[in-house]
Amino acid sequence: MGIIVQKYGGTSVGNPERIMNVANRIIATKEKGNSVITVVSAMGDSTDELLALANAITKNPSHREMDMLLATGEQVSIALLSMAIKEKGYEVVSLTGAQAGIYTDNTHKKAKITRIDNRRLKKEIDAGKIIIVAGFQGKTESGEITTLGRGGSDTTAVALAAAIKADVCEIYTDVDGVYTSDPRLVLDAKKLPFVSYDEMLELASLGALVLQTRAVEYAKQHNVKVCVRSSFNNNEGTIVEEGSVMEKIRLVSGVAHDLDVAKITIYGVPDNPGIAGNIFRGLADNAINVDMIVQSNPRGSINDISFTGHNEDKDKAMEIIDKLTPQIGSEGVKVRGNLAKISIVGAGMQSNPGVAASMFEALAKAGINIELISTSEIKISCILELEKAKIAVQVIHDKFKLSEIED
Ligand code: ASP
Ligand code: MG
Repeated sequence: MGIIVQKYGGTSVGNPERIMNVANRIIATKEKGNSVITVVSAMGDSTDELLALANAITKNPSHREMDMLLATGEQVSIALLSMAIKEKGYEVVSLTGAQAGIYTDNTHKKAKITRIDNRRLKKEIDAGKIIIVAGFQGKTESGEITTLGRGGSDTTAVALAAAIKADVCEIYTDVDGVYTSDPRLVLDAKKLPFVSYDEMLELASLGALVLQTRAVEYAKQHNVKVCVRSSFNNNEGTIVEEGSVMEKIRLVSGVAHDLDVAKITIYGVPDNPGIAGNIFRGLADNAINVDMIVQSNPRGSINDISFTGHNEDKDKAMEIIDKLTPQIGSEGVKVRGNLAKISIVGAGMQSNPGVAASMFEALAKAGINIELISTSEIKISCILELEKAKIAVQVIHDKFKLSEIED
């Protein structure tokens, strides 16, 4: 018994039959004596369809009107889901983000939640009603409708869980939870029973898109226990929580991959203050996303600087650097596309030497060359040839015995 916040993604409410299925799940949770607040996304791909409609009218839609449009997607699903629950004889109320008391800043299309006035939520809970809230939307202090950025319903759910001190925030999606690696790539990948907020943030930034990054940050900040699970079965999911319990900390929790990597190396860059600033300002001003940056100083007063980004940006990046060359006085540039980034993430690696060595040994044994290495406290990433990515993920997964993690 307690307060449970649930969130169902677009696929889970993609058609009337699925909406009925979600209604049954909500009712089952309610029947166990819990108060339930459910957040839903727009049905199926309807947010994409709304975006396409806007683009058919104008290439440059106003951000305010875009929010006005996109917010309707979630309004469809809350109304239908509430009707489904009512049909089954339960008391229910649907609320838009604004009605649920979700206030945001004024940044249309990617607004941040600033506060939640939980009075309406409390009133409906006290009245014994199931509450269905539109995800991904809020209102500004002056009453304008805003949206929270793609995938924002996760953040809505976590924020509501924090605001009413829910026992858990369950995120229902089309996967069973967070896996040790992509199960499509690694057949013996295992579902993780738990991950820490920090591990989840690293995994999300590496492409494990089960939770919106901002939702994880919010959960971490407010210490909201999150459970990621499937809306299509009753399997236990993955709990995302503070990883402070010692016996729960693993050396390595997962192996992630990014298959769209290009590397650019600038040779013979004079070792003077301001040069790196120049280069990366030039890239940033042209909206080129840079991922890893490695500077080495092999010859004293001269540096080599390598960075990685997406394949589609590499020609543009080369162009920018060519233009900057006379100014920075570098010797040359080299670009390589079709690379992959393979990373391991684990909260326990910060206090255990030898994790990096084990990863590199596994790659060496498979005859795979490492082009670039970078690390953070709980992550080690290697750049290697795209062709070798699949085998690299597998040998690293094997090396750390991730298929033996107990569910
Ligand atoms: N419907 C929105 C989107 O597709 C929000 C969400 O799904 O969380 O991005
Ligand atoms: Mg969606």
